[in-house]
Amino acid sequence: MNPTTLSSAADTVQVLGACPHDCPDTCSMLTTVKNGIAIKVQGNPAHPHTDGALCTKVSRYTERTYHPERILHPLKRVGPKGSGQFQPVSWDAALTDIAARLQAIAARDPQAILPYSYAGTMGLVQGESMAARFFHKLGASHLERTICAAAGGEGLVHTLGGKVGMQVQFFAEAGLILIWGSNSISSNLHFWRYANAAKRRGAKLICIDPRKTETADKCHEHIALLPGTDGALALGLMHELIQNDWLDHDYLARYTLGWEALRARALCWPPERAAEVCGISPNQIRALAHDYGACAAKPGTAMAHGAVASPAPAAIRMNYGLQRVHGGGNAVRLIASLPALIGAWRHRAGGVLLSNSGAFPVQRAALQRPDLLAGRTPRTVNMVTIGNDLLRQGSADFGPAVEAVIVYNSNPVAVAPESAKVVQGFARDNLFTVVLEHFQTDTADNADYVLPATTQLEHWDVHSAYGHTDALLNRPAIAPLGEAKPNTQIFRELAARMGFIEPCFQDSDEALCRQAYGDAVDFNALLADGFVTLKTPDAPFAPGNFPTPSGKCEFFSERLALQGLDGLPDHLPNHEAVNTSKTYPLAMISPPARNFLNSSFVNVKSLQAMEGAPLLEIHPLDAQARGIADGDVVNVFNARGSYQCRAHVSESARVGVVNGLGVWWRKLGLSGTNVNELTSQNLTDLGRGPTFYDCLVEVQRR
Ligand code: SF4
Repeated sequence: MNPTTLSSAADTVQVLGACPHDCPDTCSMLTTVKNGIAIKVQGNPAHPHTDGALCTKVSRYTERTYHPERILHPLKRVGPKGSGQFQPVSWDAALTDIAARLQAIAARDPQAILPYSYAGTMGLVQGESMAARFFHKLGASHLERTICAAAGGEGLVHTLGGKVGMQVQFFAEAGLILIWGSNSISSNLHFWRYANAAKRRGAKLICIDPRKTETADKCHEHIALLPGTDGALALGLMHELIQNDWLDHDYLARYTLGWEALRARALCWPPERAAEVCGISPNQIRALAHDYGACAAKPGTAMAHGAVASPAPAAIRMNYGLQRVHGGGNAVRLIASLPALIGAWRHRAGGVLLSNSGAFPVQRAALQRPDLLAGRTPRTVNMVTIGNDLLRQGSADFGPAVEAVIVYNSNPVAVAPESAKVVQGFARDNLFTVVLEHFQTDTADNADYVLPATTQLEHWDVHSAYGHTDALLNRPAIAPLGEAKPNTQIFRELAARMGFIEPCFQDSDEALCRQAYGDAVDFNALLADGFVTLKTPDAPFAPGNFPTPSGKCEFFSERLALQGLDGLPDHLPNHEAVNTSKTYPLAMISPPARNFLNSSFVNVKSLQAMEGAPLLEIHPLDAQARGIADGDVVNVFNARGSYQCRAHVSESARVGVVNGLGVWWRKLGLSGTNVNELTSQNLTDLGRGPTFYDCLVEVQRR
């Protein structure tokens, strides 16, 4: 360990790190360590985006690290599957047995082994470096890591050319900000700081979200559309921009592809049609178009290379909630098209931001070593359909039945959709399951071995971000607790027992950190400051230069057309659209509870106490119609299952939509289930992503 000492007291050091959680902000952290114990975690005041402040959740990171229920020794199952009965074993015994079991399966077909991981840490090293090398060498099934952002990511790629967009700090200079599908105060706090600065300078903030969140409360307007209708709203908005000629014709002519076709499609969406689909009033769409159109660059003011500023830059902050529906990819394509219509990209404070992760020069091949596949092309399993796939027999189509799952940085039993099937799959007696974890989660309960992993305070890592453009380094602040090991070390030792002799399995964590960006980011600067700001243009698309095949903003995507898909974006109704079922008349979305982040932090006592119990927000009219009072225990159900939680009767929910706040661990819920008992394994239009917010239910008082 080589901590950066920022404090003068001999027994106290401050160590620079990075928040590992799945959040756009990727904060720079400072951990104060006294006599080897981490006593405080705080935001790094020297990092401009973090500005010295962490969110409530991660401010409690020491409580999580020193949690009395932390797993500190390898555990072997001794009771029936799922019983949670384990006994400690030595690392040597655990790894030797795991390697033997995996070798026996691999001798039949290594594709019967499935890694399952996601963003439990966003770290490039403790995420997919040594683990990816291990599974590539093994020839295991490839996991499609789709569970969060796949549809939106594809939408961006096929419109702007990549996961690229505005730089977050320039939102502070915008005149109009559309916060579209984001509860920023809860899940993008440091963006909210910039939006608030713009607000203080006179900017108008409009929140577009089915739920009346704390963010919606603090905006000037809230448009509470039905879930899965964002694409229709974007088309209605385009219709009004066209009809009123609130367009930047020069930008459209120079820097876009497919405008005439998109124009024709948008003209089929007058406000009345869009409003009916969205469950809002036509005048809300007209007013939104008026505000957005007022930001269009004026005819005749365009100059070479985008030197003209639009009258008041209009900026859109999207987040990933809106793309967790059938038409999520198309909706993101439509929203990402809007800035080009009014020439918003001409100004650094105009455009759209969903993700900037594509700006990072991550050296994935060096980290993950796909060359270890040596020409093999293992089958792919989508993490969203793990419920079905664990229950599938071997077949010519599917390949071998899954015989082993190695889970790290994820808790699929709690977070994957249609959890009754996920539970049934993980409960299979003939499935060998290894879980690398900090805690005895719902997934760990079903393991054959649970291996204790280090937290962010105990290991090295390097981070990119998706809400800003700074690369960060995380140094270990304390020694690993108990017998915990970094994921990298666990896979390193497992590789040795499997007989993998390639030198890359010997790379240290610090070496992996250096490989993550190679020469593209100054590692010495990362060591010194904890972060490095990438060199990216302030207004990247002012002069066009989109990283698409045409170099233009692609309203029409030839690449999608070649796949047999519609090359133009359109509104696609939900798989389970409102007003299509008398049995299940309510649409349910499942945004995160404010003090949780996916299923992380649910067992942190102080945060759990703030949340109280699993909640379903329901509008007073929907509650009254069902005889439900605030605080009642309710049964939420559909054909896939049922879930008990407490009703919160509140206008945070719009009529016809309920908000099942997630993601509680099943065993910490009221009846051993959580909201994913109700969600489906249906996929999105683009990217084969999940459709968590495309879910019809009914609610009854218990
Ligand atoms: S969860 Fe987000 S806001 Fe909270 S500390 Fe981490 S990066 Fe910052």
